[in-house]
Amino acid sequence: MTQRVLITGANRGIGLAFCHHYLAQGAEVIACCRQPEQAEALLALAESHPHTLSLVGLDLAKPEQLSALCAFVQDQPLDLLISNAGVYGPKGIALGDYQAAPFDEIMQVNVLAPLLLVQALQPHLAPGAKVALLSSKMGSMTDNGSGGAYFYRASKAAVNAIGRSLAVDLAPQQVAVALLHPGWVKTEMGGAHALIDTDTSVQGMSQVIAELNLERSGQFYNYDGQTIGW
Ligand code: NDP
Repeated sequence: MTQRVLITGANRGIGLAFCHHYLAQGAEVIACCRQPEQAEALLALAESHPHTLSLVGLDLAKPEQLSALCAFVQDQPLDLLISNAGVYGPKGIALGDYQAAPFDEIMQVNVLAPLLLVQALQPHLAPGAKVALLSSKMGSMTDNGSGGAYFYRASKAAVNAIGRSLAVDLAPQQVAVALLHPGWVKTEMGGAHALIDTDTSVQGMSQVIAELNLERSGQFYNYDGQTIGW
C-alpha cells in the first residue's frame, strides 16, 4: 500500500530533501509550508509528481491553521508524520546581551507547534504509524560543553520532553515516536561550513525511521542511528 507522509517546513533545507526522498520511494507526500504559492522547489517537484505530492499552507506560529490541515488529511490515515520546521533565532548573542525577544517565537515554532501538530493529527495516524520530531544535539545536556545558544538549546531540550511524552501517550495507538538529530547539515540554518549535505542526513534519518518500532520509541537518535544522551 502507498505510504502517506506529512512533512512540515517542506519548502527548503532538510524538509525539502525529505520530500524528494519519500516521493522517490513512491509515497504520497503532503508538503506543508508557509507560502505554497512561493515554494518554487516544491512547485517544480509537484509538476513531476502530480498525483503524489500535495502542497498545503501551514504557518506553525498560527495554530488556528491546523483545522484546515486536518480537513485536508481527512480520513485517509497518515503512516508517517515528520515535524521538521524549526527556527534558530539570532546567532552570536553573548550572555549579557540577551533580551526576551524572540524567545516566545522560537518556543512557539520549535516546541508548542510540534505538540499541537501531533495532537491535531492524532486521530489521523494509522495504527503502526510513526512520528519523527526534528530535534538537535544542541538540546542535549550531556553534549553541551560549549554553552551559549540559550534559546535554541532550551527549545530543543523542551521538544525532547514533548517527544518522550508523546511516545508514552501514543503507544496504546501503536504509534512510535523518535527525536532525531539530523547532523550538522548544509542548509540556511546549518550554514556553509556544515559537515554533511541534506541527502546524507535524510538518507540516515529515513533509515532510523524505517527501523523505528514501539520498543525503540521515545529515544533521541543521531542521523546515523546512534542514540544521543538527553
Ligand atoms: P532551514 O532554516 O533550512 O529551514 C527551516 C524550515 O522551517 C523552512 O522550511 C521554514 O520555512 C520552516 N519554518 C520556520 N518557521 C516556520 C513557521 N512559523 N511555520 C512553518 N514553517 C516554518 O532549516 P533546516 O532544514 O536546517 O532544519 C530543519 C530542522 O532540523 C529544524 O527543526 C532544525 O532545528 C533541525 N536541525 C538542523 C540542523 C542543521 O545543521 N541544519 C542541526 C540540528 C537540527 P520558511 O521558508 O517559510 O522560513
